[in-house]
Parts: sequence; structure tokens; C-alpha cells
Amino acid sequence: MEIGKDVVLVVSAHAADFVWRAGGAIALYHSRGARVRVLCISYGERGESQKLWRKPEMDVETVKRVRHEEAEKAADVLGAEIRFFDAGDYPLRPTDLLIDDLVQEFRSVQPTIVLTHALSDPYNGDHPEAARLALNTRVYAQALGYPSQDKALGAPPVFCFEPHQPEMCEFKPQVLLDITPVFDRKRKAMECMDAQEHLWEYYTQLALRRGTQAVRNSGRKEIRYAEAYQRIYPQVTDQFS
Ligand SMILES: [Zn+2]
Repeated sequence: MEIGKDVVLVVSAHAADFVWRAGGAIALYHSRGARVRVLCISYGERGESQKLWRKPEMDVETVKRVRHEEAEKAADVLGAEIRFFDAGDYPLRPTDLLIDDLVQEFRSVQPTIVLTHALSDPYNGDHPEAARLALNTRVYAQALGYPSQDKALGAPPVFCFEPHQPEMCEFKPQVLLDITPVFDRKRKAMECMDAQEHLWEYYTQLALRRGTQAVRNSGRKEIRYAEAYQRIYPQVTDQFS
């Protein structure tokens, strides 16, 4: 399919996950005319907002507000729509309402590409929970018997983000996406995440390393920055590539 016709749905457990792990993919697809929609299941107010909690007299509503503003700004830089579910973190727990809400998202948005977390992460149980939620609701959205005013979903491929410690999450970088043309936008989006400033440089270095590996695996010397992904389902093709 022509990239400009793609619709990318990104299911992010917390407010910033989509920026570190898929910011390049989002900016790349947006730059080519695709629609990109980010679903933030929670703000990561308990588990991923350490810097804010170190400030005196911090409260949960303020943390959520700051994370909301940061993520909104980052999504804007990347060219994505964003929706917040405020479903809570630590633990992130799917309710029947949340499940139905996500199924209806799949039905109405009709994504052609789905990005979400890996299914294993011993450092953060919310990430695999969000991945399971995304996978399950994608499958429910395919079922003709699931009540909805929108048509049933096809079979969009699912790509898992690279986790923070990939070796510990059984993550294999099966796909290296060249994000060189949009890396400056990813960096700018990362810099919206003031609450996690320590990660800006870390994810810049990671993109450089994945870029080097992308060159090694393709011979395309012009690649400088890349993001790694792992597929959940087999690639369907009539041509090996
Ligand atoms: Zn997270």
C-alpha cells in the first residue's frame, strides 16, 4: 500500500512511551501523508514521573496535567492525533469499558498498521498489559459478532516497540526502520518530555546504534538513525525482501 494512505494506530501504556519508542515511525508516516493516532492508556503518573514527584507538595492531579501537556506537545511535533484514557498505572488494569472503548477505536479508525509494546517486560508490567490489551481488542474488532456501528477490522500488522532493556524482554529487532529524515522531529518531541530529561540522550544514542545496524543489514550508507521493531504476526508477501 502507498504510505500516504496508511492509518497508524499507536497504543502507548503511558504518556511518553510512544515518543521514545515510536516517535520516528510516527513522524515518518506523518511526513508522507499518513494519519497517525496515538492512544495513551494512562499518564504513567505513578510509575514514570519520578522527577515530578521529587518536587515539594506534588499531587497526582498536577502530575497528570503536566504529563498530559507534555504528551500533547510531543504528539503535535510528531504530527499525530492523541487521545488520553486516564485509565491509571501501576497497575494498568483493563476494564470492560476500556476494552470496548479500544475495540470501537479499532473499528472507527480502521488502522492499516498497529504499533504497541512488547509482550514481555519484567521491569514494567503495564507495558505487556497494554500490548495484550491492544492485541485482544484488535482481534475483537475483527469479529463480525462484536457490537459496533462501524465495520469489522481487517488484519493490520502489529509491530512491537523496542523495550528499554530489549534483551530482558525477549525482543528481537526484526525490523529496522530508517528514521533519518525525521530524526530532528523525534529529538524535538523527546525534549517535550521534561519529566524524563535523562532519556533524551539515551534514545538518541539508541537511534544511532540501530542506524549503524540498519546500514550493516542493508548496505544503505545514507541511514544514520533507526528504530527497531518486532513483528507479532508473519509478514505476508509475494516477494521476499
Ligand atoms: Zn511506559
